[in-house]
Amino acid sequence: MSDSWEEPRVFLGFADSVPRRSDMLARPGNVDLLEYQGKYLLSKSGVPVPEGKLAVTAAAARQIAEELGFPVVIKAQVQIGGRGKAGGIKLARDADEAEAHAKAILGMDIRGLMVQEVWVERASDIAAEYYAAVVFDRGAKRPLVMLSSMGGMDVEQIAEEHPEAIARLHVDPLVGFLPFHGRRLAYESGIDADVIRPVGSMLAKLYDAFIVLDAMLVEVNPLIVTTGRDVVALDAKVSVDDNALGRQPEVAEMRNPSAEDPQEQLAKERGITYVKLDGDIGILGNGAGLVMSTLDVVAQASGKPANFLDVGGGAKADEIVQALEVLLSDEKVRAVLFNIFGGITRCDEVANGILQALEQIEVKVPIVVRLDGTNDVEGRQILADADAPQLHPAKTMLEAADMVVELAKSGAPA
Ligand code: GDP
Ligand code: MN
Repeated sequence: MSDSWEEPRVFLGFADSVPRRSDMLARPGNVDLLEYQGKYLLSKSGVPVPEGKLAVTAAAARQIAEELGFPVVIKAQVQIGGRGKAGGIKLARDADEAEAHAKAILGMDIRGLMVQEVWVERASDIAAEYYAAVVFDRGAKRPLVMLSSMGGMDVEQIAEEHPEAIARLHVDPLVGFLPFHGRRLAYESGIDADVIRPVGSMLAKLYDAFIVLDAMLVEVNPLIVTTGRDVVALDAKVSVDDNALGRQPEVAEMRNPSAEDPQEQLAKERGITYVKLDGDIGILGNGAGLVMSTLDVVAQASGKPANFLDVGGGAKADEIVQALEVLLSDEKVRAVLFNIFGGITRCDEVANGILQALEQIEVKVPIVVRLDGTNDVEGRQILADADAPQLHPAKTMLEAADMVVELAKSGAPA
């Protein structure tokens, strides 16, 4: 994880590794809560949030807006970011506008998710938008608290163009998040001087929520300073580790059982092409054409694909981690065929990417890796030399297909 964001590993001397943005995205085992659910849970840790109510019809949205007083903001509730850019967040100055916006937003399709609920909230007067997050950093095995004075836009873009704009701090879970940690992050991030203390104590509250909820991610973007200089969470993304649901009954209750297929949703959020089928062999390849022909070859070898996934030109470890996680979150998968034809993507890079990916996630099913093309001999050698019993290198597609069908049948862990 330390290679991420291509920036100095040590930032201001107190962060020892930097996770990628992808670490903050949904993971298969996590429950992603909607904004209003996240805000409710954060408010229990003392985080100030604007007042609001949920509506499922435009008429109800109108009534709530009248109760709250104008202006209000109508916000689509879907488990995906970027709602603002997609037209899912609108300001309304009167009841007619509130109803019209709610009508337009309800039923809207936001990157494949249908809006069934809107959150109607009293509008805030924004003086500044910051970014704050607590994320579990798998590389460092510790929570990482982040703060940036440049919130409200894509965090990747901030990280790329202004890496200095994100202050970071790993927290020793035994020590916890101390008041001076908050002040230090607030100071280092370059936010307005008069809000250093309140933002610092806001970070402590976010950390508290992260711990109390068994969260993997608590993200507030934007964390705003109002024109009255109050610090308020204007958006909330909370993801809870699903292993903890037994002791988080409230979160378990919030989980949306009617949400679409979780693998497809996850793939969508990660921008991965993924199609679910009903066999037991997971298929990954680089390039749509290759993936399609892999399906045919597996069928020829009397195998049944469980799904297929196009990783595109991706060879980097975290791209492979993301793809494998989507693929393996389907419990029917008993073996995986990773089919790479090296052109611009070099097979040795893919091989190294696969090995690094296996260090980050536990893979119990066998993986047949067919490498052909640029540097394929080196790639297969890297896999053969590695201490990874679940990997089975292959040279041709047919050989790989026979192997994976056999391994799926025997079902024996590698
Ligand atoms: P996202 O696009 O899904 O991340 O949704 P957000 O809740 O973060 O809202 C996106 C943007 O809408 C924010 O960055 C704000 O600029 C704007 N916005 C949301 N609520 C308000 C509000 O109450 N007042 C004002 N002025 N802008 C708002
Ligand atoms: Mn946001």
